[in-house]
Amino acid sequence: MDIQRKVKYEHELDPGFLAKIKRLSHCEEIDRCIQCGTCSSSCPMSVYMDHPPRQIIGFIKNGYREEALSSFTVWLCSSCYTCQVRCPAKIKITDVMYALKREAIENKIYPHRFSIPLLDKEMTKLIARDGRNSEMRLILRLYLKSFKPFNLLKMTPLGLKLMKTGRMSLKRNRIKGRKQLRALVKAIKENGK
Ligand code: SF4
Ligand code: SF4
Repeated sequence: MDIQRKVKYEHELDPGFLAKIKRLSHCEEIDRCIQCGTCSSSCPMSVYMDHPPRQIIGFIKNGYREEALSSFTVWLCSSCYTCQVRCPAKIKITDVMYALKREAIENKIYPHRFSIPLLDKEMTKLIARDGRNSEMRLILRLYLKSFKPFNLLKMTPLGLKLMKTGRMSLKRNRIKGRKQLRALVKAIKENGK
C-alpha cells in the first residue's frame, strides 16, 4: 500500500477560488458559513455524495479548488433548493453547485466517463449550437462518449417505444436565429469570465 500525504500546505491552496465562485454564483455570503451542517442534513442526496454540501462550502472558503471541483457531489445535486432555503447564513448553495459544475467543465476537472457531467456538457453544446435539444443526438453522444455503446443496445426497445408514441424523434431540432444565438452565447461567456 502506498502511503500518501493527506494534508495540504497553504501554498498548494487556491487563494482566488472563493472570489471566483462568489462571482460565478452571484453569492457573496459563502464565507459567512458557520459549518452548522443544516445543508448536509437536509440534502436528500447527501448519502450518495463523497463530500456533503457543508464540506463543499468549506472547501471553497479555504481554497481547496481541486477537492471541490473533482467531487461527485456537484453532479449528484438534484437542484432541489432545500439546502439553500434552510441555510441560516443565506448562502445560495444550489447556485454555488451550478457555479462549480461550470468551472469543473471549463477546466476539465470532473469524474471522466461519469454520465452526469457528460450529459451536462453534451446538452449544453447542443443547445448552444442549435438552440434546442435533440434527444436522439444527445443519447447517442452520451453513450459513445462514455464508452458504453452496449448499454445503448439495451435501451433500444425503450427508444423504439418512445419514438412510436412521439416522445422521441430522429429529427434534429434547430431554431432559425442561430447566428444571434451564437453571438448571445459568446457575450455570456465573455461576461462570465
Ligand atoms: S447550512 Fe449554510 S451555514 Fe450551515 S453548513 Fe450549510 S452552508 Fe454553512
Ligand atoms: S440543492 Fe443539491 S445540495 Fe442542496 S439539498 Fe438539494 S440536492 Fe442537496
